[in-house]
Amino acid sequence: MKILIVGGGIAGFSVARALERKGYRPDLVERRLDEAPGGTGLFLPGNVARALDQLGLFEPVRDVAAVIATQRILDSEGRQLTVTRTQDVWAPCGPCLSLPRAALHGTLRGALSRTNLRFGVSVNEMQLSPGTCRVAFSDGTTSAYDLVIGADGVDSGVRRLVFPGIKPTYVGNVCWRFITRNTAAIEGWTAMLGHGQTLLAIPVSAEDVYVYADMALAEQDVEGMIAQTSLGALFGGFAEPVFSLVANVSADTRVHFGSIEQVVMDDWVKGRVVLIGDAAHASSPSMAEGAGMAIEDALVLAEAIAAIPDPDAALASYTARRRHRVDWVQKQCVARDKMRALPTPARNVILRLLGNRLYKRSYAPLVAPT
Ligand SMILES: Cc1cc2nc3c(=O)[nH]c(=O)nc-3n(C[C@H](O)[C@H](O)[C@H](O)COP(=O)(O)OP(=O)(O)OC[C@H]3O[C@@H](n4cnc5c(N)ncnc54)[C@H](O)[C@@H]3O)c2cc1C
Repeated sequence: MKILIVGGGIAGFSVARALERKGYRPDLVERRLDEAPGGTGLFLPGNVARALDQLGLFEPVRDVAAVIATQRILDSEGRQLTVTRTQDVWAPCGPCLSLPRAALHGTLRGALSRTNLRFGVSVNEMQLSPGTCRVAFSDGTTSAYDLVIGADGVDSGVRRLVFPGIKPTYVGNVCWRFITRNTAAIEGWTAMLGHGQTLLAIPVSAEDVYVYADMALAEQDVEGMIAQTSLGALFGGFAEPVFSLVANVSADTRVHFGSIEQVVMDDWVKGRVVLIGDAAHASSPSMAEGAGMAIEDALVLAEAIAAIPDPDAALASYTARRRHRVDWVQKQCVARDKMRALPTPARNVILRLLGNRLYKRSYAPLVAPT
């Protein structure tokens, strides 16, 4: 079967790896040059450890990651609202990990040996006919494929061509992200909740910590916000342990700014084109399940393609196996974002009384295999 993967991110490299392990030699095009995205971090809950293991990559990823055993939520003054021993919740799957995004990307990229990779190339046009899809690439070449996998992220060009009516929608928050020295001695996943604002810090190695800061903002005001905003002034209502990390960002730290968008769609398949990862179902990062859902999509899709001789039936099986889990994550993200936006006293009482139970409830379906 001739397969094209569009996008060399977490989803694209994962599905290439999963297909290679089933004996396929897919083509993959990535619009960027052959370099890892730098600067930010990723938290990976335990179901990702299990998925990486199924790709044969758990150990190489764990070797470049920090193992995270707890999740702590504090109020903006630093008082603890709840703490969860996340390692217990995820024990059936594997450890929660935290690492620079470039380290995961580099490990997935480095594991590919039989995929035909082309960097600096994207897709200009796609023509769908029964049983095939003809693709015109940005480098002037064209080719016909039995299957095209759109793994090109929230701003997917494949989705735009095949599902022109679907557009990402703004979820109401903007964020700043960077990696810096862990001068605040942060241990475990540590979030601080203010009014319409959140600070989060997670170690990504023995020396460094990944910092994420977000705030609610009306869509028309997003363009006025930039990466170089004074985070110390913006988050001045916060105390330690995370405040000094955002207040003292050094001039040479690359801060990534962005607005947060989601993609919700009823169908991920049209003819021989299928969407996976953020292209199909980007969410707010409140569950930290974007990478997990992308890698699980990749595993299930490769398994279906290898096991079911009729490609159309394989794509239907992929959708059927992934739909419930992905919908669950998207709904939980919305629910978590709503809870963060509750009046502070009510939100704090809920977290003090129910924080542990809510954590277990929201992740329980993901502890079970996909
Ligand atoms: C602020 C924020 C924080 C997050 N934190 C976490 C976290 O802690 N843990 C977690 O699991 N997830 C997190 N996520 C989500 C996670 O980043 C995504 O779910 C994940 O990157 C999705 O992978 P992907 O491969 O589908 O998309 P991407 O990582 O976006 O990769 C898509 C790739 O396709 C390429 N591409 C795009 N268009 C084309 C084209 N037309 N032709 C060729 N190539 C193309 C892009 O260059 C890119 O390399 C976060 C997201 C945000 C916004």
